[in-house]
Amino acid sequence: MDRVTPSYAEAPVSQTLFARASAVTPGGVNSPVRAFGAVGGTPRFMASGAGPYLTDADGHEYVDLVCSWGPMILGHSHPEVLAAVREAVGRGTSFGTPTVGEVELAEEITARVTPVEKVRLVSSGTEATMSAIRLARGFTGRAKVVKFAGCYHGHVDALLASAGSGAATFALPDTPGVTGAQAGETVVLPYNDLDAVRAAFAAHPGEIACVITEAVPGNMGVVPPLPGFNQGLKDLCAAEGALLVSDEVMTGFRQSRAGWFGVEGVVPDLMTFGKVMGGGFPAAAFGGRADVMARLAPEGPVYQAGTLSGNPVATAAGLAQLRLLDDAAYARLDATAAELRGLAGAALTKEGVPHVVSAAGNMFSVFFSDAPVTDFEGAKAQRTDRYTAFFHTMLEQGVYLPPSAFEAWFVSTAHDGQAMERVAAALPAAARAAAEV
Ligand SMILES: *Cc1c(COP(=O)(O)O)cnc(C)c1O
Repeated sequence: MDRVTPSYAEAPVSQTLFARASAVTPGGVNSPVRAFGAVGGTPRFMASGAGPYLTDADGHEYVDLVCSWGPMILGHSHPEVLAAVREAVGRGTSFGTPTVGEVELAEEITARVTPVEKVRLVSSGTEATMSAIRLARGFTGRAKVVKFAGCYHGHVDALLASAGSGAATFALPDTPGVTGAQAGETVVLPYNDLDAVRAAFAAHPGEIACVITEAVPGNMGVVPPLPGFNQGLKDLCAAEGALLVSDEVMTGFRQSRAGWFGVEGVVPDLMTFGKVMGGGFPAAAFGGRADVMARLAPEGPVYQAGTLSGNPVATAAGLAQLRLLDDAAYARLDATAAELRGLAGAALTKEGVPHVVSAAGNMFSVFFSDAPVTDFEGAKAQRTDRYTAFFHTMLEQGVYLPPSAFEAWFVSTAHDGQAMERVAAALPAAARAAAEV
């Protein structure tokens, strides 16, 4: 008998796999948002990806609007990236020595992003921000770190205070396991509020090592920086002898050849990268001013290391991906994102659903809210119950959106007319479902 693919609403193979996973892994997943906790239902176990599509273990095909949370900017299984990976794997997978690929990737990053004079490769965005904070403290000899509510910088202990993303979804503003001492040097301020930053510098004179911010916050939904906010941070940091750390793990190499820096031009002291630069493998980086980076071991005293840092397979994938990301690719991403924003907005407007399509460059998200969102408080005021209905109706028509209202939607250069037509066809029913909540 032929195997019959079940309707999208049913996912018996994923259900079985989720039960098996839950028996051996906390919550059945290796990163919380994957569990569908915010939207309910069975998380889909993906079996393969090609271009703009994902196929789950039940055989359902989805237009993918998550793109692995950003890395798959060229779509899945891009032939040139896969070829580079195959070639690299054929030469061996890890040597624990310097390799030429690391030099080439570092050269590519420093050539694209001019504030990055020197760069260190690591394996995750979390490692990048953790190391950048340590370096900022080591360089300035100061302890305190300023971060913004709703900004997510990975699961660094000191930065898990009012973090967005999975933490927003799961309402864990301060996670157990982070001690008062670890979070005590962190000052959390409302996003887009320069007066609050001024006040923090006044309250802690000579104590703030750095201000860390997402170049464009994308982990509380997309909340663009107000005009002048990032430059204002830079100016305040410069005046106070603190460093500005711009977290471009999400925006880096996505928003332009030089990430959000390439769009806005604000020059930070340190920057962090991940996601796109790994080409779907664990590769990330932090870098910036040569005099600051010179404090890093083995050139300087601030320790930082990694067994798999600069892994030859990951660097090959990342390099292949970056080399394909030319101006035409960014123009295409921007156009696709604009089209998708227009389609989603029109469908929701037609059904009279209050919403804000909040965008910066080719990153955007939809808040089921009637006022523009400028900070985490505003993001949290959205109607997540409407998002849940919207999400499931899209899923059941073969469109995979982020399983949380606090995440950005991502497009790739592989999203073509056919994929967009499928999204367009699914939107009216999803908008109706959101209206009915
Ligand atoms: C994803 C992300 C991180 C964490 O990166 P991981 O590779 O998941 O550790 C840090 N900062 C920002 C802005 C991110 O979007």
